[in-house]
Amino acid sequence: MTPEEFRRHGYAMVDWLAGYMERVGELPVQSRVDPGWVRGMLPDRAPEEPEKFEAVAADLDRIVVPGLTNWTSPGWFAYFPCTTSGPGMLGELVAAGLDQQGMLWATSPVCTELESVMMDWMVDLLGLPGGWKTTAKGGGVMQQTASDAAHVALVVARDRAQRQGADISRCVAYTSTQAHSSIEKGARVAGYQHIRLVDVDDVYSMDVGRLAAAVADDRDSGLVPTFVCSAVGTTATTAVDPVRTVGELARDEGMWHHVDAAFAGNAMFCEEFRHHQDGLELVDSYTVNPYKWTPMTFDGSLFFVADRAPLIHALSILPEYLRNEASESGQVIDYRDWHVALGRRFRSLKLWFVLRYYGASGVRTRIRAHIGWARDFAARIEEDDRLELVAPVPFSLVCFRHRAGNDATESLANEVNRSGHSFLTRSRVDGMSFLRVSIGQVNTRKEHVERLWRLIDGKALPFA
Ligand SMILES: *Cc1c(COP(=O)(O)O)cnc(C)c1O
Repeated sequence: MTPEEFRRHGYAMVDWLAGYMERVGELPVQSRVDPGWVRGMLPDRAPEEPEKFEAVAADLDRIVVPGLTNWTSPGWFAYFPCTTSGPGMLGELVAAGLDQQGMLWATSPVCTELESVMMDWMVDLLGLPGGWKTTAKGGGVMQQTASDAAHVALVVARDRAQRQGADISRCVAYTSTQAHSSIEKGARVAGYQHIRLVDVDDVYSMDVGRLAAAVADDRDSGLVPTFVCSAVGTTATTAVDPVRTVGELARDEGMWHHVDAAFAGNAMFCEEFRHHQDGLELVDSYTVNPYKWTPMTFDGSLFFVADRAPLIHALSILPEYLRNEASESGQVIDYRDWHVALGRRFRSLKLWFVLRYYGASGVRTRIRAHIGWARDFAARIEEDDRLELVAPVPFSLVCFRHRAGNDATESLANEVNRSGHSFLTRSRVDGMSFLRVSIGQVNTRKEHVERLWRLIDGKALPFA
């Protein structure tokens, strides 16, 4: 494809995407295709002869659109959002076109340095400790997802414990029963044989007394407490673990303390929510996903460490073919030493575009609006004698149930999702089903939250 042809097809693709953005609110949020439908639309074999690009593009409407779950629909209230925006998409497009491979500083100085600067900007924007900047002792790097960030944190913790003489068969990782499954999975991948899921209190926050008891028990059995993860905003209910008290225990016991703030960490753009993560000076690593709330396109999880030395110690390995003058000078960052993969995408470009296009003030305005709508929504639930909240609403996720029980709650979810214009998901704790209304999609406006409320109000069974 020549530059001239690229220009023509590129304009057509941008037009097509702009059209999708305009009509996404009219498409059903969930795809209506049956399993295997997409496969049935595709030939069994790849084309032997070249096809016209127009023919490929035409199949977007014919095959791709019907199979989409429309995550950018304004009626998206499911899971957590996965956000995108014009500047985010354009950042991805430019990154693809420039085709940078940022494994070393020398293989793309701008990929490395722009990323370091974006991570340092984010330290200030989210009110994180200044020592976490790359200009200080710590540093930040964009991992693919929060799961990758947790995996890396678990590996660094294990490596540090092993250097101090612990055998991997004795290392223990702790998190709460409400932690995201990626913590347990990361621990398994990192080779931990002991993973403790600590009980929570009545607002689903980790019970540090029980954590301390589990740690003491394990010490008595000759095991080595190695890693603990606190959540700032759990996935089920956005519950917040007590970062400071967990941090104090971690410090006293020599455990690595990781904070998973994948979704709720974005709220820290606004100062009034930062009390939820008081105690960050007692944290070794931290992760937040801008693509869950800040309108940066998937992927890219921000991973910060208070001290980059143990991270680089755990992951650095230098084959001869990667040796170069810049690296040996010790003056540059080689991000390949900061994660599992060698190759890396130019992810910071979209974050740079988004932060400049919206400004920090634009991001804050949206986050405050989402949280305000969530509080209004929660107030409606509280006033309704058919429904009840099942957890506090510290951010923009509202968790509630039908007082008549699990069946009524689940049929309410089905009714809402059958509407096609709004989509929410269910969760369950201790055998109790509840609905999650997660507000944060870029296209969602107050009217869409109102429409969801009217739907729930109309469909909820009268409480007998
Ligand atoms: C979404 C989520 C994750 C996993 O996110 P990925 O980036 O998809 O790996 C981890 N922890 C929490 C609290 C989450 O909400």
